[in-house]
Amino acid sequence: MAVASRVISPSPPPPNELRGELARASRSLETASPAEIISWGVERFGDRLTMATAFGPEGCLIIHWLAAIAPRTFVFNLETGYQFPETLALRDLIAARYGLQVSLERPASSVDEFERANGGPLYRTDPDRCCSDRKLAVIRRVLTRFDAWMSGLRRDQSADRSAAPIVGWDHKFAVVKISPLANWTKAMVWDAIVREQVPYNPLHDRGFVSIGCAPCTRAVNADEDERAGRWSGSAKTECGLHSRGS
Ligand code: SF4
Repeated sequence: MAVASRVISPSPPPPNELRGELARASRSLETASPAEIISWGVERFGDRLTMATAFGPEGCLIIHWLAAIAPRTFVFNLETGYQFPETLALRDLIAARYGLQVSLERPASSVDEFERANGGPLYRTDPDRCCSDRKLAVIRRVLTRFDAWMSGLRRDQSADRSAAPIVGWDHKFAVVKISPLANWTKAMVWDAIVREQVPYNPLHDRGFVSIGCAPCTRAVNADEDERAGRWSGSAKTECGLHSRGS
């Protein structure tokens, strides 16, 4: 597949021409397969396309396709310092299976420095600021080098995500956002993972459904919402990566 060189340099707000192109692309890609959507992103943005993954099942599945389509794509993980060891071990499994190295992108301070500066773990007292410092600041830094990013977001994960386009302008980070699995269901994702024998986090077999940082994630019961185990007991439902910014 021919990969285009850098095509656009978006800056907020997106020019009308780009906004129109993204809307048309998103509509036409509604019936495309995830692999076709990834191919569209690769052809359109070339090496200005990146992918963020927390090593969830969706991200592992996208990596499975991406490794066949454009294995040199820069893929990264937001390594907050608070992730489960099982999550980080997936990076090695993915490298062994696909030869694709997921870059661990870290905040400026170590966990020790961060907790010392804040009088203890901020996830207990101010999880929004913890996510802001250890995730949002980091993804913002990474995305300045790219024009488009891919994520494993699905519309049926939560009400917040229910209107996510396949392709759209990410106001928060001022880049194009591509969600190849936006219109897939959880069952479709797991069917494909089993069928294609894609590596996945073993915590999923122990009741963890949506997995983030260890202190902010618990296993859920079968009758609970799939994101009920994230920031359980608090009003927080998103780390801010996928919520619309100003
Ligand atoms: S998920 Fe929890 S530990 Fe991770 S960055 Fe957010 S608040 Fe901090």
